[in-house]
Amino acid sequence: MARRLFLSVYLHWFRRDFRVRDNTALALAARLADAVVGVFVVDTRWFPSAAGCMGPFQARFWLAALTELRRTLLDLNIPLRIVTSADPAAALVVLARELHADGITFNKEYEPGQLALDRRLTRLAQDAGMQVRACKDAVIWEEFELLTGAESVYQVFTPYKRAWLAALAAKPTSVAGLPRRGTGLCCAADTVPAARALGYGAVEDSLPTGESGAEAMLAGFSGRLMRTYAAQRNYPAVEGSSRLSAHLNAGTISIRQCVVAALRGGAARDQCGGAGTWLAELIWREFYRMILFHYPHTVTEAFQRRYARLTWPERPDRVAAWSRGETGYPIVDAAMRSLAATGWMHNRLRMITAMFLVKDLDVHWRVGEDFFRQWLVDYDQASNVGGWQWSAGTGPDAAPYFRVMNPILQGRRFDPQGVFVRRWLPELGGVPVKSIHQPWLMSAALQKQAGCVIGRNYPAPLVDHGSARLAAIGRCVAAAARSQKSGR
Ligand SMILES: Cc1cc2nc3c(=O)[nH]c(=O)nc-3n(C[C@H](O)[C@H](O)[C@H](O)COP(=O)(O)OP(=O)(O)OC[C@H]3O[C@@H](n4cnc5c(N)ncnc54)[C@H](O)[C@@H]3O)c2cc1C
Repeated sequence: MARRLFLSVYLHWFRRDFRVRDNTALALAARLADAVVGVFVVDTRWFPSAAGCMGPFQARFWLAALTELRRTLLDLNIPLRIVTSADPAAALVVLARELHADGITFNKEYEPGQLALDRRLTRLAQDAGMQVRACKDAVIWEEFELLTGAESVYQVFTPYKRAWLAALAAKPTSVAGLPRRGTGLCCAADTVPAARALGYGAVEDSLPTGESGAEAMLAGFSGRLMRTYAAQRNYPAVEGSSRLSAHLNAGTISIRQCVVAALRGGAARDQCGGAGTWLAELIWREFYRMILFHYPHTVTEAFQRRYARLTWPERPDRVAAWSRGETGYPIVDAAMRSLAATGWMHNRLRMITAMFLVKDLDVHWRVGEDFFRQWLVDYDQASNVGGWQWSAGTGPDAAPYFRVMNPILQGRRFDPQGVFVRRWLPELGGVPVKSIHQPWLMSAALQKQAGCVIGRNYPAPLVDHGSARLAAIGRCVAAAARSQKSGR
């Protein structure tokens, strides 16, 4: 059918690039062929709501993005096909054959699992006599474009950022428009499955979805919040950051759209201003991608070899209390409850809760990394592993082993009035500001008066931060010494 009506057909595989604007590989497919068919593979190893799979917030967010994408693609005469399979590479080639496609395009990803998938797809497609075109799209600079003077991989962020900005000044980036409109539809579009049909329960959508939602959010942030970002971004009770992470991860907005917005906001002129600080965060995203590309073992192992010998006991009770937001430390508990309710957590709170789990509760960072994966709407393997290894002190350019965030001081500094804490812990609603980050210090009479009796309405602290901190530092020192002794 496709052959009879169209001279050439290309399949574009949507993986984490759910947009039509500024989509490099989609635009390439539209240039190469008369007819383009978009395809998304519901990978059954990843999609059902089960352990080890995509969490409910992210699944719903992706499906909403796909629903909008299906509509916008049809305006361009590109039908979206949905294929369900546990072997995406094979499924893509089967569909391409059925449509008599000449080739397949996709945008590159940099995680170990995705790279293996790309290799398999390339081999199968080439065996079937098809072209495969993979494009750089998700990053400004990819794996071998930014190396040190000695041709090695940057392991420290600041020099990486410097090189990143210098490369951008030498070769500015720009945003492309819509792909060329096809001459007609070469097959019908499929319906995007509902989250329920994939086994997901209902969760509340807390973000505007799809490409249109992303563009509106970027416009709102650029017009209003970008200027104050440097000053406001650390305070969870205020709207101080872009909240674009879920969109950047689903590709409903491109990294180039964000970088161009930051440059328009003055990022190049003033690196410490709002736009410059925001651009630096976008560069962290890329830094972690490149680290994961070059050091894929860091998905499960410490980046810093000297911490390879850290040992972690199983602590199911502590993990359960942390995940439920019942540690007795209000800033930690409020953060964990906000994650469960919205699928998103403020960056400052990610650092506090991650460090608390690893250092205060002595739990392996992988346990937390896995928990965040199940709940985050913006889950991204590179950034999540990067963030957890940073917090554990085991990653590249990580927090040093002696830095253990104090949840009381962090709470006082970044939520001074307890506005965020009260929002998520209504049981602390009557606690005076003075005690909001240490409610257990209230006298029995005051606890009663505040309607918050420790041990009844709100838990007593699970551990004592002071002694937990010393123990955490001791563990790191001992692990480094063991590793030095064994020559590793
Ligand atoms: C333990 C831990 C786990 C994390 N897990 C993830 C994750 O799974 N997915 C994810 O996208 N981010 C993760 N981050 C990074 C960061 O917390 C989020 O990107 C940020 O909170 C998203 O909010 P925002 O979009 O308002 O960010 P903004 O402050 O507006 O920043 C703009 C963009 O820059 C990127 N960015 C910002 N901070 C970081 C960072 N520290 N590392 C990498 N990229 C960054 C994000 O794409 C973000 O959308 C994690 C951080 C920690 C400490």
